[in-house]
Amino acid sequence: MTTDSIEATERLNAVRETMGRAARLTGRTAADITLIAVSKTQEAAAIRPLIAAGQRSFGENRVQEAQGKWPELRAETPDIALHLVGQLQSNKAADAVALFDVIHSLDRPSLLTALAKAMDAAGKRIPCFIQVNIGAEEQKGGCAIADTPALLRAARDADLPVAGLMCVPPADVEPAPYFALLAKMAREEGVDRLSMGMSGDFETAIMLGATDIRVGTALFGERPAPARSLPGSGRGMIRNSRAT
Ligand SMILES: *Cc1c(COP(=O)(O)O)cnc(C)c1O
Repeated sequence: MTTDSIEATERLNAVRETMGRAARLTGRTAADITLIAVSKTQEAAAIRPLIAAGQRSFGENRVQEAQGKWPELRAETPDIALHLVGQLQSNKAADAVALFDVIHSLDRPSLLTALAKAMDAAGKRIPCFIQVNIGAEEQKGGCAIADTPALLRAARDADLPVAGLMCVPPADVEPAPYFALLAKMAREEGVDRLSMGMSGDFETAIMLGATDIRVGTALFGERPAPARSLPGSGRGMIRNSRAT
C-alpha cells in the first residue's frame, strides 16, 4: 500500500471508531449511520485512496466542481453515492439531478419547483433533505424554522421524496442545542433522517440522533487553499504538505 492509502485507511478507521462509540450510546452501530466523505476542493488523486479504503458515499458543495471530477471517478468505481451538501441555485437543478444521488440543501419553494421539474424531465426522483437555518443566521442558507413545515408539505405535494432534515449550526458555539432542536423538528414533522455533524462535532451529532454525517477534514486532512488565494502566498501549500 502507498503512504496515501495507509493514511486514508487510518483516518477512515479512526472516524468509524468514533462513530461506533457514539452510535452505541443511542442503541445503534456505526453501520446504521451514513458517513459522507465531503471531498470539496479535493482532487481526484486525493479521493482515490479513500475509495480504495472502502468509502463509498461522498459529498460535494458545488455542482460544477463535482461535474469536473466525479464522472471519471465513478467510471472507475460505479457504486459511489454522491451527495450535494452545498447551496443550490435553481438554474443548476437539472445538472444536480443528473449527477447527484441525494440533495441535502433544499431550502426554498423556488428550488423545490425547479427540482421537481428537473426530476420530471429526468424521469427519476432523488431524495432531498430540507436544510434548516437552525441558528437563524442572516448570511446562511437554509429554510427558516417557522417556514419548514410548509416547505415539507409542499415537497410532499410535489411528490418529491423528503429524506429528512439537514443543518449546519452556527460556528464557534456549542452545537448540541442546535442538533437537539433539529431532531425535535424531525420528530414533530415525522421525517426519519437527520443530516448533521461535521469533523468537529459528528460524535455529538450522532448522540443526538444524526443518521447522516458530513465529514471532510477528519478524512482528508486540511482542505487545499481556495483557488482564489494568491499564488506564492504559500500558506496553503505549507499546510497541505503536512500529514494532518
Ligand atoms: C465542508 C462541509 C462539511 C465538512 O466540513 P469538515 O469540517 O471539513 O468536516 C460538511 N457539511 C457541509 C455543508 C460543508 O460545506
